[in-house]
Amino acid sequence: MPESLFKQGASASAPNSSSMLDECRDELIASLSKYSEHGPVTGSTCYVWPSSECPVGCGHCNYAAPMSLNRLTRYSVARDPGPVLRLMNGMGLWKAVLSGGGEPMVEPEFCERFVNEIDSPNLEEIELITSAHFAADEDETRRRVRSLVDAWRTRPSNLAQANFTIRISLDWFHAQRIGVEPAARVIRLLGEEGLQDVGCYVRSVLLDGDTTTEKLAKSLGGQLTEMDDYQRKILLPDGRTILVYFKNLIVEGRMNQRKLSRLPISLPEQSRADVFGKRFESSQGKNVPARTYNGPQVRHLEGLACLIEDDGKVRILEGNDPHRSPNVRQTDGWSEAIEYLYADPITVYLVDNGPQDLAKLMADAFPDSVRMAADTNQLYHLTELLLADPDRRLYATLRTLELHVAEGRVTADQQVVDRAWALFSEHAKRDTDAAERG
Ligand code: SF4
Repeated sequence: MPESLFKQGASASAPNSSSMLDECRDELIASLSKYSEHGPVTGSTCYVWPSSECPVGCGHCNYAAPMSLNRLTRYSVARDPGPVLRLMNGMGLWKAVLSGGGEPMVEPEFCERFVNEIDSPNLEEIELITSAHFAADEDETRRRVRSLVDAWRTRPSNLAQANFTIRISLDWFHAQRIGVEPAARVIRLLGEEGLQDVGCYVRSVLLDGDTTTEKLAKSLGGQLTEMDDYQRKILLPDGRTILVYFKNLIVEGRMNQRKLSRLPISLPEQSRADVFGKRFESSQGKNVPARTYNGPQVRHLEGLACLIEDDGKVRILEGNDPHRSPNVRQTDGWSEAIEYLYADPITVYLVDNGPQDLAKLMADAFPDSVRMAADTNQLYHLTELLLADPDRRLYATLRTLELHVAEGRVTADQQVVDRAWALFSEHAKRDTDAAERG
């Protein structure tokens, strides 16, 4: 399988990951006292990727890839659901989401087991995010949706009574590949008796020149309301209302400005990450994805926004160094995973302040960090870009640690810190000399 462009980028720096700089960063983290103060330890939301592959193959998607033999040899949470469910059931969730990555419904058995077994004392929402690719015809749509709903209805009585929602991803790019009918079939089906308590909404991408939502409304015989706060509604003849929520377009990786300029759609100003991202700012004007629910109704969370990738990697959304994440297979549970994450000054800083502030902090040594933060039209891959190389990771660790030591939240062995600064300076000097030699 060709890995996503984003992953190709990430793995390009993999040989460096065991470099002296990363070893030094590990040694530094291991030498620190436990933080006396850090962000929350519960996970309010968690997105799990049953797969990183998707048969739809949209032109803007960094995860679209055909099925491959590689997935048979790689560890996958979908083929080993025990560890991921055990970890997630200890997080203290409000909302648990099957998402991508790729298309969750390429792993239907995992999705059904998840809907049946996921739990937390205050779990209110279970959501499936899907392209509706599986809805090939009416019978198949009914069979697949009914299996999921049966799994939800037969949740053991000792588990939380959570709602179940199907969120359909449908935008101009999806429609070029599979049209609007699969989405329309799922929406129509959910009007049948016995399914009307299943939630349903659509997530689209805001583009000028796009009539996909109009086509969906027409196919359903519904009336479409005007745009308001990135939302429209389809009022269906049977009295139901389907919310259509719009987000920004990712113009990075598989899609870029050059390709976009050749298409009959374009990027309105409201679809730029810096404009769209304003929705998620807290009252202090900070955008901290690690503490924000980014759905149609933005919520600033008591706990963390987390995700678990298909290979079992546990992450906080834009809240930890992606190169230093626990794995569901290698931890005893959530409390061990979160302790490991908060041992890293970068995690503590990102959960407090978000990646835009980290970019500013790193700008002294890496001036391009600010440009990265300003230019990317992706809201959720800035930490990957900022921390792509070992020297960047070590510098970010040293700068964030410096702040936390001054705040009295952690203590560090000064000799280890000095050694790390010396190694970083030596590396930076070598880079400068090499650049001057041309
Ligand atoms: S349906 Fe979603 S996961 Fe699949 S290719 Fe399109 S955007 Fe990517």
